[in-house]
Amino acid sequence: MSSDESSTPDLYIGGTWVHASDGGTRELINPADGSVVAVVDEATPDDAAAAVAAARAAFDDGAWPATPVGERSALLSRIADLLERDKEKLSRIETADTGKTLVESRIDIEDVVSVFRFYAQLVQVESDRLVDVGNPAVISRVVREPIGVCVLIAPWNYPLLQISWKIAPALAAGCTMVAKPSEVTPLSTIAFVRLAEEAGVPPGVLNLVQGSGAVLGNALTDTPDVDLISFTGGLATGTTISKVAAQHVTKVAVELGGKNPHIVFADADWESSVDQVLTGVFLHSGQVCSAGTRLIVEESIADRFVAELAERAKKIRMGDGLDPASETGPLVSQQQRDKIEAFVAMGISEGAELVVGGARPSEPELQKGSFYLPTIFDKCDRTMRIVQEETFGPILTVERFTTEADAIRLGNDTQFGLAAGVRTADAARGERVVRALRHGTIWLNDFGYYTAAAEWGGFKKSGNGRELGPAGLAEYQELKHIWHNTAPVPAGWFKGE
Ligand code: NAD
Repeated sequence: MSSDESSTPDLYIGGTWVHASDGGTRELINPADGSVVAVVDEATPDDAAAAVAAARAAFDDGAWPATPVGERSALLSRIADLLERDKEKLSRIETADTGKTLVESRIDIEDVVSVFRFYAQLVQVESDRLVDVGNPAVISRVVREPIGVCVLIAPWNYPLLQISWKIAPALAAGCTMVAKPSEVTPLSTIAFVRLAEEAGVPPGVLNLVQGSGAVLGNALTDTPDVDLISFTGGLATGTTISKVAAQHVTKVAVELGGKNPHIVFADADWESSVDQVLTGVFLHSGQVCSAGTRLIVEESIADRFVAELAERAKKIRMGDGLDPASETGPLVSQQQRDKIEAFVAMGISEGAELVVGGARPSEPELQKGSFYLPTIFDKCDRTMRIVQEETFGPILTVERFTTEADAIRLGNDTQFGLAAGVRTADAARGERVVRALRHGTIWLNDFGYYTAAAEWGGFKKSGNGRELGPAGLAEYQELKHIWHNTAPVPAGWFKGE
């Protein structure tokens, strides 16, 4: 899996590690310095189809879906133990692949552990629902069964975290699956699947292919052999996958982008508001689906607030994620930086006022990496594309409001609905505003936190599924109603006369 170990196969199909069937490989680049981190096998569509077939066979033979819940739960716990054992190794892999700081990667891996622990417990306490049909002879119950073969497709910004939100509940539910990490950052998922194998995942239950989504996409999605596609990524890809899946009436759960408002009222606590608006947008260089990229601030404090933000933004220390002095890393790739540069040019041409950033950093040691300065645009308005489109980079736009109704209107003025922040010292107003906003997660006087026990997902074009929490397990289950009459009698409908 590293350049000196490129002979190690990286695709896992039917319980066997294999190379790509055409011998294809891909170089993975460390975005902090442009060096080659690893060379991995790049699957072909045939490999992807073989992985789906392996998952189908493993589901249809019935052993894994019928494995007692206690055993499935124990497997998840063993995986969590192994993740803890290898936490440092996995964190370093994640940092080399994504560029994020090691501190962030460690938090990500801890979160992955918590997701496996959560579903190991939840699946054990779930119970069938009895339904009283008014006839004591009938035992009517609704049971949960695994939905079947799942294709799990993940993005590059939180590689192992995002795919674990899918793998953990899918395993807990008794599904079989094909995992496809982003081709840009597959390393932590490859390492994870090795851990899952060590923990005892039966052959065919968890399969792994990596490679370009455009190349593998159809083999993974345009097939009647798949029962659920769980996808996290961009709106355009999610829309394409949904259309393909519809031809087979395959269930699709998509978790897409966001353009997340962070609303600051004049009475909000100053220090935590400045700090969290800054963190909310510039953490991981803005490559966060829930990044608070759209500051909506009350007019009376706006000038001072933006000035202080700009001063703090200038001081953010960028560098290699392995350097403990770095507060944020590079963008994930040169291509991603190209996109950000195009957005900045667009913001300028639309008439937004560039307050800070808007360029690559000048430090010589950052020149080989795909770094980009934290950027703030003031005097933005809702008609600008820079305000409406997800940039997925370190760009904050600033809009101002004067009334609570305006703040709500602006906060909802987006095609997306993933997350939002509201900051005010007035609890009643805070409650009014959070109820009026149409986003899947809302932080009141906080920003960015989540827990495995609470659902995550989007309103509107941010998606149509839920991950984490009980609903994150329900995505992987079918409900079956069983009507058992212990004392059958003729229906008597047709008299036979
Ligand atoms: P992307 O849509 O380009 O790719 C996501 C995944 O889809 C990758 O694995 C890719 O290879 C695959 N893919 C691409 N085309 C495909 C096709 N035709 N069929 C099947 N698979 C295909 O997204 P990205 O650039 O990797 O990730 C960034 C996006 O992810 C952002 O929009 C971000 O907001 C979103 N995201 C959302 C959440 C959330 O929880 N809602 C979390 C993280 C990231």
